[in-house]
Amino acid sequence: CGIVGYVGPKQAQDVVVEGLRRLEYRGYDSAGVALVIPGGASGVIAEAKKAGKLANLEKVIADSTLPPSHTGIGHTRWATHGAPTDANAHPHLGSERRVALVHNGIIENFAELRTRLEDDDHVLLSETDTEVAAHLLELAVAAGADLTTAMQQVCRRLEGAFTLVAVDAHDPDRVVAARRNSPLVVGVGEGEHFLGSDVAAFIEHTREALELGQDQVVTITRDAVAITDFDGRPGEGRAYHVDWDL
Ligand code: GLU
Repeated sequence: CGIVGYVGPKQAQDVVVEGLRRLEYRGYDSAGVALVIPGGASGVIAEAKKAGKLANLEKVIADSTLPPSHTGIGHTRWATHGAPTDANAHPHLGSERRVALVHNGIIENFAELRTRLEDDDHVLLSETDTEVAAHLLELAVAAGADLTTAMQQVCRRLEGAFTLVAVDAHDPDRVVAARRNSPLVVGVGEGEHFLGSDVAAFIEHTREALELGQDQVVTITRDAVAITDFDGRPGEGRAYHVDWDL
């Protein structure tokens, strides 16, 4: 129900959890975060997810000491497929735990995609419609695509309504997102960028926003925002200034 992404000089964990706190008003049943702990080809994803209030997740996070991370994603879930349990909470990861993904919306053709993945010996750990997209994204980056290209490829195979936000443990400097029939806004900062299902996710950091159009993929790094359609053709967002207070 709420989505946050960050890349920049700040501690991603703090920015992402604050963003989720700001999105709590939308209602949710579970929450989770994924951070990229950089290390080249041995970079890893650190993730925590918990059913219930954000405070439950914060307790798990407070008990763990992680190396610094400057790239992260977060999610508050309003369950549509699968009960509100820890296992069904987002983020969802691929089999190699290289790609982490969060999702708002519904992937209508997940059952058919799931059957195909299971036929190829993928073990899915949740009952969500979302997890198939994490596996497909990871397969695409493992085959050599960068995360942006992988997202375009995967979106072309998905039906339904989705805002997706993903990170790749081997590529710690970017967060990639996509949208169809579900909202997504970029927050434009100085040497940092944010993603949110709405501007509340990043309003305390920047008031410069970029609204994505239908069927677009966006890649944020510290210094750049790049937008394409699902076929990789360059696109544009709608820039605006948020001049109201939350
Ligand atoms: N359909 C997904 C799920 O049930 C995402 C729900 C949401 O938008 O939070 O996990």
